[in-house]
Amino acid sequence: MIVSKFGGTSVGSAENIKKVIHIVQKKSQKTAVVVSALGGITNLLIKASDLALKNNESYQEIVDQIEQRHFSTIEGLLHHDNQTVCKAEVAKRLNNLKEVLHGVALLNDLSNKTSARIIGLGELLSSFIIYHAMLQEKLNVKLIDSRDIIKTNDHYLNAQVHFTETYDLISKSLSSKDNNIFLLPGFIASNKNGETTTLGRGGSDFTAAIVANAISASTLEIWTDVSGMYTANPQLVKQAYPIEEISFQEAMELSHFGAKVLYPPTIQPVLDKRIPILIKNTLAPEDKGTLITEKSLVTGSIVKGISHIEDIALLTLEGNGMVGVPGISKRLFGALAENQINVKFITQASSEHSICIAIDISESELAKRAVDDEFEYEIIQHKINPLIIEDELAIIALVGDNMKSHQGISGKMFSELGTNNVNIRAIAQGSTEKNISAVIRKKDVKKALNTLHAAFFEDQIKQINLFVVGIGNVGSKLLDQILSQYSYLLEKLHLQLRVVAIANSRKMLFRAEGIDLNVWQEQLDSQGVVSDMKTFMTEMNALNLRNSVFVDNTANHKVPGFYAECLSSSVAVVACNKIACSSNYDNYRQLKYLSRKYKAPFLFETNVGAGLPVIDTLNNLIASGDRITEIQAVLSGSLNFIFNHFDAEHSFYEVVKQAGIEGYTEPDPRIDLSGVDVMRKILILMRESGMPCELEDIKNDSFLPKASLEAGSVADFMETLKSGAGHFEALRKEAEELNCRLKYLASFKNGSAKVGLQHIPKDHPFYNLDGKDNIVLFYTDRYKDQPLIIKGAGAGAAVTASGIFGDIIRTGNK
Ligand code: ADP
Ligand code: ASP
Ligand code: MG
Repeated sequence: MIVSKFGGTSVGSAENIKKVIHIVQKKSQKTAVVVSALGGITNLLIKASDLALKNNESYQEIVDQIEQRHFSTIEGLLHHDNQTVCKAEVAKRLNNLKEVLHGVALLNDLSNKTSARIIGLGELLSSFIIYHAMLQEKLNVKLIDSRDIIKTNDHYLNAQVHFTETYDLISKSLSSKDNNIFLLPGFIASNKNGETTTLGRGGSDFTAAIVANAISASTLEIWTDVSGMYTANPQLVKQAYPIEEISFQEAMELSHFGAKVLYPPTIQPVLDKRIPILIKNTLAPEDKGTLITEKSLVTGSIVKGISHIEDIALLTLEGNGMVGVPGISKRLFGALAENQINVKFITQASSEHSICIAIDISESELAKRAVDDEFEYEIIQHKINPLIIEDELAIIALVGDNMKSHQGISGKMFSELGTNNVNIRAIAQGSTEKNISAVIRKKDVKKALNTLHAAFFEDQIKQINLFVVGIGNVGSKLLDQILSQYSYLLEKLHLQLRVVAIANSRKMLFRAEGIDLNVWQEQLDSQGVVSDMKTFMTEMNALNLRNSVFVDNTANHKVPGFYAECLSSSVAVVACNKIACSSNYDNYRQLKYLSRKYKAPFLFETNVGAGLPVIDTLNNLIASGDRITEIQAVLSGSLNFIFNHFDAEHSFYEVVKQAGIEGYTEPDPRIDLSGVDVMRKILILMRESGMPCELEDIKNDSFLPKASLEAGSVADFMETLKSGAGHFEALRKEAEELNCRLKYLASFKNGSAKVGLQHIPKDHPFYNLDGKDNIVLFYTDRYKDQPLIIKGAGAGAAVTASGIFGDIIRTGNK
């Protein structure tokens, strides 16, 4: 014989009940079918009683709603004649419910006894309707009232079963040879006086397990709305998948820590008789489901599943008076047990100075009263502090029988959580080492689950979530590159790049599931909201996604002001914006410090030489123990472009204008022409070489005439280039006469740096530097005579975007 239990969703509608009947019909052996209330009905019954207790008349509407649900199920299932009989019975019972609720409202009193009677009604109604539907399908079925065969104590809402008596009653009742299907309502039972008791929320699973034990069933089937016990709650972790086989112990741990698919007490009765449990999906019966047996499948992941419980409160009892005093824990747990408070998690510091306990948040006030009462004397004496309660917490647990024989699981768990800025309040490892659990903030649950799931079950794919600010020239090229490389990265590097937000100075767009990069422009235009960096940050923090990267493609002064906040929340920062790294040294150092502290990469390769690997090369030299002694460089693609095109035919003004049009200058060309841009770059190289220096420490011999230096706006500045044509022409001629070219150089030697325009003779390596190219010569202890040279395109949107792209990939390899 087997036992099949169908949960709330499985019997939630006429359509689903038909599926249930179809499944039962196909059974070749005798079957005990246990059913829950129609999905959501138990909650409605609880709501109606709460309202009645508050003397709120709208409980009547809830009862009407309950009636409606059952009527429409009856209409969808039964032939017309049967409908009338069934509806009359449902109406009768619900009228009776209204009377009971009326009494509750009048007396302003709701005992557990009455409550159990009310909330147990759902299963009575569902089993009654399903019984008639089965009869109609000619199933040889007998309806049994579980209250006649499951006997409990008087804890009406969470009753303890009297097993011996119960098993006896069940086996007698189900021994009838006349029927091959026995239908029973789950969840309800009765005490010795025959009054209705209930087995706790989710208790229909327990009913089924009790029946399975009593009749020594060959299998206990739990039919629900998902295809088994998943590696994590499938509603929160998209990548979760059903676990094929799992041990009783593992299933117990997972359900204890919140995998609601199985009610934890369910395991015990079947474990006693080693009856396998099979979790199946009523909506997809062909799916394999999860088989729970004595042995766990040894292949596959060491960690079997991750579960979590939300709405947790952490209680901390501490005080000097606890150290070395025996019996404190006993009294603490005694006080909680007396009030039937369920303890989900315990840690005790080895100093015995404090004990931490996690419980359901709804019980925290009761716990506080109970514990403070228990230790009243010690609290007055200041030996123990009043109980501290923290809420808005959750427990997350890794479960697996074989975890104990593998080192490093907890290390990996905590480092993954730490890297993603999930703060851990308390840790416990079960003495059997079948679980490692941690108390975290409730708001971090989704991120923590997904992070751990990725780390333990999807080790191949890493998702990176991008928040992109600046989608002009460079930014839009970056989005193009991300789109075109998406499949390559996924396949070859196992990285999934997802752009979650984009913003320019006018609009911003957020999509938690990722923006479709084929249509980002249209979506930003039609669905974007007014751009504002503060709101951008708030939204980003609220999404709280793992492996988040903030990408700054702007030249804006304000955006870098948000880097510290990003890094402190473990959000990596990738910037082509040079402001942060060339601002005052303390700010630069602080950002580097935050990056290390929160393990959030801060990468800005494109600050020098656009896409050229200048900073990365420098970092590698330093990391391998080398020392920079001298740098010679042409670091301005814009100035190189300008001086390469400035000749007898083209005036200086015309060339600068052209460079702007082609996107080779900063939005404000003064930044390039004044040398500030180059100063920033050499400053960044010096800082990355380990020198704490400021922009003022760099000498700048400007080639601009005084009027240009003093121009108040870009337009005025451009005018001075026109009016100063003679000055520029003289510079050009002088170089020409010396057979030299003009190059804007940055150099660093003997601890100091300077930038300025120089005459470069024909035999110099910089002489033939074309177009907008950059070149950097690093002289180091190892590269003494022949410098290490990096040369190539040093400006332009596409190469800059590819440099940013490279940094983004690097954050994924951290
Ligand atoms: P039923 O009404 O059939 O008893 P429940 O709602 O009690 O169903 O349990 C099934 C639900 O449990 C799933 O829909 C899913 O949301 C939730 N759940 C939580 N954790 C897990 C998990 N690890 N595997 C499967 N389901 C889970
Ligand atoms: N109907 C009850 C509940 O919702 C029991 C169950 O469905 O398992 O808690
Ligand atoms: Mg359930």
